[in-house]
Amino acid sequence: MADSTDCVFCRIVRGEAPALVVAETRLSLALLDLQPLAAGHCLVISRRHEAWWHDLTAEETTDLFGLARRVARRIKRAYRPDFVATYARGRRIPHVHLFLVPSFAGDPVDRHFNALEGWQEGAGTLAALAEPARRAEVAARLAAIDDD
Ligand SMILES: [Zn+2]
Repeated sequence: MADSTDCVFCRIVRGEAPALVVAETRLSLALLDLQPLAAGHCLVISRRHEAWWHDLTAEETTDLFGLARRVARRIKRAYRPDFVATYARGRRIPHVHLFLVPSFAGDPVDRHFNALEGWQEGAGTLAALAEPARRAEVAARLAAIDDD
């Protein structure tokens, strides 16, 4: 989909909705999040309407993550977080957006990621996935698929 009339990020890209842009390229835009989880929390979006980053072209993906790196390093210098948590979204607003959230040890973002690492729901299924034979099967399956 080239763009979407009602998509808030497409409206920002077209200049029809306000945004605090901190950096931009031909293919991507970095802006402050409207509801920041921490000072410096930014979003990096593709200019083209697509829900998920892996459905962008290789050039768009390289550009998106290149801009994310630049902005994450600015956030590091400005706010001195331990790291800049990064995750890609596309479900609630179906337009590629990378979260760049300054994170400090023990803060809600850090606890969230730690909780994911200690995820116990479906523990039996997860334990089965961790079995060496199962891991080898999954690795072989992914390795055998040609890139498209
Ligand atoms: Zn859009």
